[in-house]
Amino acid sequence: MGIEFRGVTKRYPDGTVAVDNLDLVIDDGTITVLVGPSGCGKTTSLRMINRMIEPTSGSILLDEEDVRDSDAAVLRRGIGYVIQSAGLFPHRTVLSNIATVPMLSGWDRRKARRRAKELLETVGLPPELGKRYPAQLSGGQQQRVGVARALAADSPVLLMDEPFSAVDPVVREGLQTELLRLQSRLGKTIVFVTHDIDEAIRLGDKVAVFRVGGRLAQYGTPSDVLRH
Ligand code: ADP
Ligand code: ADP
Repeated sequence: MGIEFRGVTKRYPDGTVAVDNLDLVIDDGTITVLVGPSGCGKTTSLRMINRMIEPTSGSILLDEEDVRDSDAAVLRRGIGYVIQSAGLFPHRTVLSNIATVPMLSGWDRRKARRRAKELLETVGLPPELGKRYPAQLSGGQQQRVGVARALAADSPVLLMDEPFSAVDPVVREGLQTELLRLQSRLGKTIVFVTHDIDEAIRLGDKVAVFRVGGRLAQYGTPSDVLRH
């Protein structure tokens, strides 16, 4: 599913311009990385795709359809979203954390749990971890569960906000490798936010470099971006 930002500006009520007239085309089935220093509008841009944040002006299209024409809650539920802290429900087991997502779209419990078990395997976790609670997992394992839960939305679009920033460098590299492997198999449209240019270069089919003030400074393949 392609994503397009057309002249998108976000001004917060206090006057902060977080994103300034952003034009960006994200191709179907690619990983596009939004990179830049803290506060340059990456998270705001990401959250406008699933309407967690509404733009002040401009439009965002998913496969040519304005996201404003979709119900915000339905859109949010249907788009996989992974954040830095994994955001797992602490009082639910790993399996239940994942199974909740298909159950929200009406799957019965048994079918949802079966799907959740498949997804654990997809992200490289052993089935017995399904019975644990998030606090009983390492940071890297929690992020994998976060990815599995996002995949459970079964959406062509996956939004990832600094998903690997909280884990140590060795684990991070492993997670990056697996994301690339997963992507070559699943072919999702992934929008990935990071402040780490090396991570952007490693993961991105395309890299969008933001600068403070919410403007796009550069956009291209990793080698285009490295050349500048
Ligand atoms: P990034 O993800 O690149 O760190 P953000 O999109 O989180 O950037 O923030 C962009 C700018 O908007 C920053 O200056 C931030 O302080 C500001 N900002 C983010 N959320 C809000 C908000 N709810 N109200 C006011 N300003 C905000
Ligand atoms: P994340 O960890 O997802 O990047 P942040 O720590 O940037 O989130 O922000 C947490 C919450 O605070 C978000 O809802 C964001 O919109 C809001 N926020 C961020 N910066 C500001 C700001 N300068 N003023 C008001 N709210 C902000």
